[in-house]
Amino acid sequence: MRLNADGKEWGQVVDWREDPEQELGELSDLFDVTEEQEWQERALCAQTDPEAFFPEKGGSTREAKRICQGCEVKDECLEYALAHDERFGIWGGLSERERRKLKKRAV
Ligand code: SF4
Repeated sequence: MRLNADGKEWGQVVDWREDPEQELGELSDLFDVTEEQEWQERALCAQTDPEAFFPEKGGSTREAKRICQGCEVKDECLEYALAHDERFGIWGGLSERERRKLKKRAV
């Protein structure tokens, strides 16, 4: 299973609360989670060595990027990483530094 940089699992289930407004907010969170799970289930990296996607500093990213090139959810993955400001690892075929550059260019 792949973890986010903060160590939380993807698709984490939220708790229900008594406050209806909070429940409504959490309902929409659930829909987001469902969408995330949908593309993450098709993630090619889930079938490979996850360590290749989180190399040590100075380690090679070539193998992870090669896998990403053949991944059908590359765009969704990159969007997710940009939206959630993922700091570590290869997402959507880009390293953290490459994602940062991409964000700067988009501003
Ligand atoms: S694009 Fe790369 S990191 Fe993203 S889901 Fe596909 S294989 Fe995994």
